[in-house]
Amino acid sequence: MADKFISSKDINEQSKWHELTPGLTIYEPGTAVDTLTGEWRTNTPVFIEEKCKQCLLCIPVCPDNAIPVEDLKRLDFDFDHCKGCGICVKVCPFDAITMEGIN
Ligand code: SF4
Ligand code: SF4
Repeated sequence: MADKFISSKDINEQSKWHELTPGLTIYEPGTAVDTLTGEWRTNTPVFIEEKCKQCLLCIPVCPDNAIPVEDLKRLDFDFDHCKGCGICVKVCPFDAITMEGIN
């Protein structure tokens, strides 16, 4: 089914509606690498480093792989890809992440 539609990375302002997948569903894997999904964010997580115990519970739950890890320590958010879903805020047991922008 996906073969008759153009690849998501090739979509541009000139693309025709009949070239797009129904509901703009993306069939290819790994497209987050090419797409700055952080532009979709309305709420923004804030990392409070002094509260962080480096338990790393927030890492696997992020659907956008937007929490970088280096030398077994989490770093600040990758805002090019974080969509602001808030899952990491819910998971953190030490209140080391808050969310800005929630009404
Ligand atoms: S808010 Fe969502 S997308 Fe952003 S870092 Fe947290 S879990 Fe990942
Ligand atoms: S879940 Fe909280 S305490 Fe654990 S690494 Fe993530 S921010 Fe730090």
